[in-house]
Amino acid sequence: MLAGRERQQGFFDAAWCSGLLAEDSIYALLANHGDRIVRDEDFAECYSARWGRPSIAPSLLAKVLLLAYRNGLSDRRAMEALRFDLRWKVALDLPIDHPGFHHTSLVKFRARLLLHGKERIVFERSLELAAELGLLDGAVEQIVDSTPMLGAAAVQDTVTLVRAGVRKLIDAVTARDASAAARLRAALAFDYARPREKPAADWQDKTAREAMLVEVATDAQRAVRAVEHDHELVADAAVGGAVKLLREIVGQEFDTGDDQAPRPRHGRQSRQIISAHDPEMRHGRKTSARRFTGYKLHAAAAADAPLVTAITISPGNEHDGHHAAGLVSQQPERRRPQRLIGDAAYGNIEVREQLEQRQVGVLARLHTTASDADDAIAKDEFHIDLDTDTVTCPQGKTATIYKPRRSRPAATGQRVARFSPTDCQPCPLRARCAPGGRRQIRLSRREDLRQAALRQLADPAERERLKRTRPRIERLLGLMVYRYHARTSRYHGTRKTELQAVWTAVLVNLHPIRAALQA
Ligand code: SF4
Repeated sequence: MLAGRERQQGFFDAAWCSGLLAEDSIYALLANHGDRIVRDEDFAECYSARWGRPSIAPSLLAKVLLLAYRNGLSDRRAMEALRFDLRWKVALDLPIDHPGFHHTSLVKFRARLLLHGKERIVFERSLELAAELGLLDGAVEQIVDSTPMLGAAAVQDTVTLVRAGVRKLIDAVTARDASAAARLRAALAFDYARPREKPAADWQDKTAREAMLVEVATDAQRAVRAVEHDHELVADAAVGGAVKLLREIVGQEFDTGDDQAPRPRHGRQSRQIISAHDPEMRHGRKTSARRFTGYKLHAAAAADAPLVTAITISPGNEHDGHHAAGLVSQQPERRRPQRLIGDAAYGNIEVREQLEQRQVGVLARLHTTASDADDAIAKDEFHIDLDTDTVTCPQGKTATIYKPRRSRPAATGQRVARFSPTDCQPCPLRARCAPGGRRQIRLSRREDLRQAALRQLADPAERERLKRTRPRIERLLGLMVYRYHARTSRYHGTRKTELQAVWTAVLVNLHPIRAALQA
């Protein structure tokens, strides 16, 4: 049952020591304006109105969680700080002798937020407060970018991955039906009490190693077969999920021969599932030279105020640009930007088209069309006129843009302009432009968007705006990952990782809010 907070001040209240706090600290901010940042009534949907014991006030737990993320403390350490650190007691308006709470209170609080879809409530409140303080007035542009968030789980090799998958299935069946779990264990060849321990084999010998890999995969298939015939058992969400995961792991790590026996896959291949404990994290790249394992944190920030306005998490192998539309859509209509500013990952036609559907413009570099040959004449050196359906080359020759034939529509919607061989063959630029004899220019399905972007980027004022504004988000992402410890996820899974990212973004938003409240 939802319980609010007693507001009467007692003789032992730490509030008497509030003068000791630094004025610009988060402790002073929570002590003086905490009720404007976190309110009990915002969490009302997470608690029963009539039943159960009175809860710990959710605003209190929310502030503890904020301070835990701010200081990079585990749940246990956060509760120790609440018990012994006077600053925490002043910030949370508690008496000096308050013993704190059990650390699992935070685990249950987060679970409650996730269960009721309220993990963004404090983030949204921070933006409402920023709007009330006039920090978002006239915000028509937002900047988008992403940064890696490393996964909390270890990358597992094939044997450990498959064995951990089998153990997950055993645990899920045990939780549902102990006797079915006993039958499952009896059907298996290996013991899964310690799934990280590999079965005894000569792992240095290739033949013995491959034979053991086949044994491990066969045992996993045995586990799936032992469970899948029991429809009632598989209907359980945890058991069904564990069966699906184990099937995916075996399918990813092994080929199946004609005799249906598993065979280890050879050669380089990108693995999708890299940990049975966190099956959603992926290997990813931030640049061609910078690899990481885990998630990507995608964020949008106001262009003219240091405020994070939208945030989401994806597996580490997903493209930045695919999340731009989602960052816009998660914001209420009144806060949506008219234009997004980003790097080249947000400049491709697909992203521009998705944002066009949401009436949002884009200011971002386009991927270059330069060919591999350094001195080759690129497509962008041709003048494309979509009103007259013509393309003019650097030598002033013109070719007509052909539309796809009705009988054979091109799946990609691409159109082509072919220059005449009589123009190209005598041309002095032929070696650089049309080594094959005649030049052909391909136009994308949305060449209009591409041409509009090129005209925009040809404007020096727009280029200057892009150059000066886009890096501002990097400071906010830097605050999140370095100062507030969001470089590494604390939890397994996308949703819990997103909860951490969102609450860390609140800490970033509190910087300008504090400055505005003190002004
Ligand atoms: S090779 Fe053909 S298309 Fe290229 S510049 Fe010369 S005339 Fe124009």
